[in-house]
Amino acid sequence: MKMKKLLSLLVAGAMSLTLAACVPGTTEPTQSSNAQTEKPAENAGGTEATGDQGGAGKYVGVLMPTQSSQRWIQDGDNMKKQLEAKGYEVDLQYAEDVVENQVSQLENMVTKGVNVLVIASIDGEALTGVIDKAADAGIKIIAYDRLIRGSQHITYYATFDNFKVGVQQGSYIVEKLGLAEGKGPFNIELFGGSPDDNNAYFFYDGAMSVLQPYIDKGQLVVKSGQMGMDKVSTLRWDGATAQARMDNILSANYSDGAKVDAILSPYDGISIGILSSVKAVGYGSGSQPIPIITGQDAEVPSVKSIIAGEQAQTVFKDTRTLAERTVEMVDAVLQGKEATVNDTKTYDNGVKVVPSFLCDPVSVDISNYKQVLIDSGYYTEDQLK
Ligand code: BGC
Repeated sequence: MKMKKLLSLLVAGAMSLTLAACVPGTTEPTQSSNAQTEKPAENAGGTEATGDQGGAGKYVGVLMPTQSSQRWIQDGDNMKKQLEAKGYEVDLQYAEDVVENQVSQLENMVTKGVNVLVIASIDGEALTGVIDKAADAGIKIIAYDRLIRGSQHITYYATFDNFKVGVQQGSYIVEKLGLAEGKGPFNIELFGGSPDDNNAYFFYDGAMSVLQPYIDKGQLVVKSGQMGMDKVSTLRWDGATAQARMDNILSANYSDGAKVDAILSPYDGISIGILSSVKAVGYGSGSQPIPIITGQDAEVPSVKSIIAGEQAQTVFKDTRTLAERTVEMVDAVLQGKEATVNDTKTYDNGVKVVPSFLCDPVSVDISNYKQVLIDSGYYTEDQLK
């Protein structure tokens, strides 16, 4: 069983966030003139390392949680592409959301002799043992998107402003329901992310920082009464789990004809599950509109759903920019230099405050998806048809 998260600590830390746009290049680490420029042999398939480092200091292990979510595929692709462009050899591995897989992938990478590990963890508290081994072997560790807790060996953390993601989701609901103008009461239901992912608490706290005042005033009513991460979390961010929970909420609390007006969802895969649930009981047909459903990651099925007028909103996190920031960190740790960070207060992993770079998330809905997602070259128009 996992240790209980220190919610209050996270809230306090998150409140002290200083926001900064994720614009790379402000203080680029200087490239050394050593072997960094020489491109090593291609890593077959990107999943099996050769064991040959292709030259000292050039071998990077990249661990991603799962290929079941499009965002992580893009993260992996961007990391691999950008690292290879700088002459690194990359061993990219996905663990299909199984913690034990990720631990053994890490162990293998330590044995193969990577120089740096870039880790997007599945369970942020499950890696301390293997990370100790990596650190003993002189390997530098960077936490990617998700904080690794309980270890002193995390040199940097590259992520998005996770509290702000939640604020954007909550603010969208406030705006669309007209809560600031005094409208209501409206019924809302709340969903959280995976309880073993540090980010999930930031998203929830960010959203509740905006929604709670309206719950307190009675303009928002959580008819199920289910509030707090201990009640609303969704293990492994699983859409089917969220769908089942929504089914239960609807049958237990809305069979009397009451309607749910908004649903806080932290992630697109969860939003799609919730959508199936509400549509199955008639929302989106006749005079029963689909509730306002938020999301995160701007995954293709959700953007298509937004275009179709179903999911209302998502939060775009540009994985290209996150990869750029992380590659800068890889360069820095290997060259013994300091990487650019913009937050040295928020991400206390229980052992140390990890110096972090927080990229800027962008709220997306029908009104700006073209500009944010297509004009930026993230998707083509065809991909969203
Ligand atoms: C990421 C989110 C993502 C979620 C589910 C979180 O750690 O920050 O972008 O939606 O995991 O994959």
